Amino acid sequence: MKPNEQIEQVVRTLSNSPNTVVVTGAGISTEAGIPDFRGPNGIYRQLGEDRVMNIINIHTFNQNPALFYDFYRQHFVLPPVEPSKAHYILAEMEKSGFIKGIVTQNIDGLHEKAGSRRVVAVHGNSEQYVCTNRHCRELYGRDKVEPQTSGVPTCEQCGSVLKPDVILFGEPIKHFTDAQDMIMSARTLLVIGSSLTVYPVAGFVKAFSTFYQDLIIINRGPTQLDHAALVKIDRPNTGETLEEIYYYLNRTGK
Ligand code: NAD
Ligand code: ZN
Repeated sequence: MKPNEQIEQVVRTLSNSPNTVVVTGAGISTEAGIPDFRGPNGIYRQLGEDRVMNIINIHTFNQNPALFYDFYRQHFVLPPVEPSKAHYILAEMEKSGFIKGIVTQNIDGLHEKAGSRRVVAVHGNSEQYVCTNRHCRELYGRDKVEPQTSGVPTCEQCGSVLKPDVILFGEPIKHFTDAQDMIMSARTLLVIGSSLTVYPVAGFVKAFSTFYQDLIIINRGPTQLDHAALVKIDRPNTGETLEEIYYYLNRTGK
């Protein structure tokens, strides 16, 4: 199938769909300047997945927060960047009623920053830190915590250790039911920038694909569910691809 036919089919599917939900992964933010984990410059390639998992997990955090923070500061603090074209177009698509919302595995907060309203961030938000004392739970912005460049940050209210408000290995995802419901009640699912290897979201997408046909994947490189997709678009520039889709969607109307 030639690219133009693919775009046409995506536009036709989206304009006929009463409920389109978008699932995004690290690949939507690479054009904003945040590397993904599994790409050529990704942290898994550089350090090895095992090493990352051994430190960025909840047990290491609880037992040795100093070790955790040394590693986290060095490798995980995301650069402060602006949303990419793709983030902005998704926000526009929500406003004009073409999509109902976004389930994201990203922790960068860029969908919200671009103006998307209904965003279910299942892995949390690296823009903030949360007090680990369950009777306190005070939240702190990264601008308050990250100037401290060594040691373990603690809560001003109660002195307990602060944790980046993101899901570490060994922790359950946030908003499990919301994410599952949103994906399973969609008629069309548009996956952007995810290799669909990280569970449970990949499992929700897989379950969706066994019930419905209308799975669209825009990803550079292969994903685990390419075989189940109605259309798979693999192009170098996702912002431009979405811009093209949105242009034709507006001409077709809803
Ligand atoms: P992944 O790393 O498994 O997959 C990303 C996919 O996007 C890859 O297949 C890659 O080839 C593709 N890709 C890269 N650039 C692209 C582009 N410009 N356009 C289209 N596709 C592109 O990502 P994942 O499935 O989200 O899982 C990674 C995990 O790491 C998640 O748990 C996520 O929370 C976390 N993570 C988040 C961020 C972020 O918040 N920006 C960044 C890195 C990792
Ligand atoms: Zn506290």
